[in-house]
Amino acid sequence: MSPRRTLRSPDPPEAARIGLAGLDAGPIERAFRVEAPGESLGALPLPFEYVDVEVEVRRADGAAIRARGTLGARAVAECRRCLEPTRIRVRASWDALYRPPGRVTPGEEGVWALDAQSGELDLAGPIREELWVNAPAWVECSRDCPGLCPTCGVRLAEQDCDCAPPEPDARWAALEGLGGRSAGASEGASEGAPEGDIP
Ligand SMILES: [Zn+2]
Ligand SMILES: [Zn+2]
Repeated sequence: MSPRRTLRSPDPPEAARIGLAGLDAGPIERAFRVEAPGESLGALPLPFEYVDVEVEVRRADGAAIRARGTLGARAVAECRRCLEPTRIRVRASWDALYRPPGRVTPGEEGVWALDAQSGELDLAGPIREELWVNAPAWVECSRDCPGLCPTCGVRLAEQDCDCAPPEPDARWAALEGLGGRSAGASEGASEGAPEGDIP
């Protein structure tokens, strides 16, 4: 993350900002909910409905400020196998160090630029990062979701169908072709292979 150079954003997202007034008297603790986080936090890995944040902000060495806390977020997204809407929860604890922009080394983990003039701490960066790190790479309604029948499209967790199962055979045949390239290894089986499945 590069430090923000804009003097003021036209429409600052207030949701994840903490006022720093009173910080010299001691740590500031806040708990708040970020609604519509996809709008106020930037691009997120899932369509989160909200993010609950707890944070403690305190002064650190030099002019740095340390913010640490927890977050809990909820999203609904399609199962990648059966396409059913699936509820996902993400929980994480996080720890961020804010330094004046001149003292932020690019690429240094967990260090963010402090915009001291604003009198606020913008937590959007660390919250967004934790959501990316902790969100599941694949959305699945259950670990053993059987998905959809590739032929008729029924949801196999709910009902059976009478379709012949050609898919696994075709895939194995394709893999064998990639590995050994033995002539005629997949005779008769490649006819129904989906186009473009393996480049
Ligand atoms: Zn599923
Ligand atoms: Zn079927």
